[in-house]
Amino acid sequence: MLEVNGLKTYFFTRSGALKAVDGVSFALARGETLAIVGESGCGKSVTALSLMRLVPDPPGRIVGGSISLDGIDILGLDDDEIRAMRGRDISMIFQEPMTSLNPVMTVGRQIGEVLRLHQTLTKAELQRKVVALLSLVRIPEAAQRAREYPHQLSGGMRQRVMIAIALACNPKVLIADEPTTALDVTVQAQILELIVDLQKKLGTAVILITHDLGLVAQTAQRVIVMYAGRKVEEAAVDALFADPLHQYTRGLMASLPRLGLLRGEAASSKRLQDIPGIVPPLTNLPIGCVFAPRCARADDRCRSEYPAYEEKGPGHWAACWHPGPSNGRGHD
Ligand code: ADP
Ligand code: MG
Repeated sequence: MLEVNGLKTYFFTRSGALKAVDGVSFALARGETLAIVGESGCGKSVTALSLMRLVPDPPGRIVGGSISLDGIDILGLDDDEIRAMRGRDISMIFQEPMTSLNPVMTVGRQIGEVLRLHQTLTKAELQRKVVALLSLVRIPEAAQRAREYPHQLSGGMRQRVMIAIALACNPKVLIADEPTTALDVTVQAQILELIVDLQKKLGTAVILITHDLGLVAQTAQRVIVMYAGRKVEEAAVDALFADPLHQYTRGLMASLPRLGLLRGEAASSKRLQDIPGIVPPLTNLPIGCVFAPRCARADDRCRSEYPAYEEKGPGHWAACWHPGPSNGRGHD
C-alpha cells in the first residue's frame, strides 16, 4: 500500500548538507504495524515528516526517492492535494501532545475541525462523531471532556485526544512518532495498548517510531533499524529478536532490560550502555560503515567500504560485513 523508495531528505546547514535520511526504502501493507527503531538523531522523525510532506523547507528538502500511497505519488502532489491527503489518508501523532494541540480551543472543537476539513456533516452529526471518537479512545465522560481545554486533561488523556484527531477520518496509515515517550510508564502501556486495539478494530496500518525495542516486541510485525539516516537492518519481529544480525541492533538489544521484553510490560528507557560512543554528525559521515567507529568488530574493510544491504535470511536484511553472534556465523 505504502511504498518508499530511496528516500533522501537533507537539511542544508552552514556546515554542509546534513543527510538526515539517506536512501531509505520500505513498504507497508494494509493493516500492518512496522516499527522504525534507532537512537535519537538517526532520522526516524525526518522519515515520518517526509511521508507527511512536513519537512521544514528551508532548511530541509526531499532531494531524492519516491513515496507512493495506493499508487499516488506523494512527492508529486501540490500543496492543496497534500493538505487534503493529511488526516484523510495518512496521519501522525507526535511525542508531546501539548505542543500539537491548540491551547485555546476545546478538544471537541479540535477534533471537529479535522472532521469538517474532510467531510460534510451537520452540526449534530459533527457533535455525535466527536463524542464517539473520544469514546473510541476510551476517554470517560466523553461529552463533558469534549468541552474542555487541553490543559484540563492529563498527559495520557491529551495523547488520547491526539489519537482521536489522527484517526478521525479513518486514515490508511497512522504514524506514531515516539507516542508514549513523554508519558509515565503505566500510561505508556495503556496508550500503546489503545493504539494496537484501534488498529485491529479499524484496520489502519501503523508506523511505530521508537527508540525502545521493548515496545516493538509488543506491537509490531516488522522492524526497520535505522542508524545515521540509513536502514541497517530489517526483519520480521520474531526473526529480529531471535537472530539480530547488525552489530548495532545487537547493541540496542543488549541495552534492553530483560523484563521489558515480556509482553504487556512497559519497557523503561535505559541508555545504550552497551554501545559506546554516539551517532556521528550527519554532515560528515565516515566513508565505510557508518557504525564502524562504535563497533567492536570493525576491521579495515568496515572502515573503508560501506557494507552492501543484503538479504541474509528469508526476509531478513542487513548492511553489515560481520553479521550475527560472535560464536555463530560471524567471523570471530
Ligand atoms: P530521530 O527522530 O531519529 O531522533 P530526527 O529524524 O529528528 O532523528 O533527526 C535526524 C537528523 O536531522 C538529526 O541530525 C537532526 O539534528 C537533523 N534535523 C532534524 N530536523 C532538523 C531541522 N529542522 N534542521 C536541521 N537539522 C534537522
Ligand atoms: Mg524523533
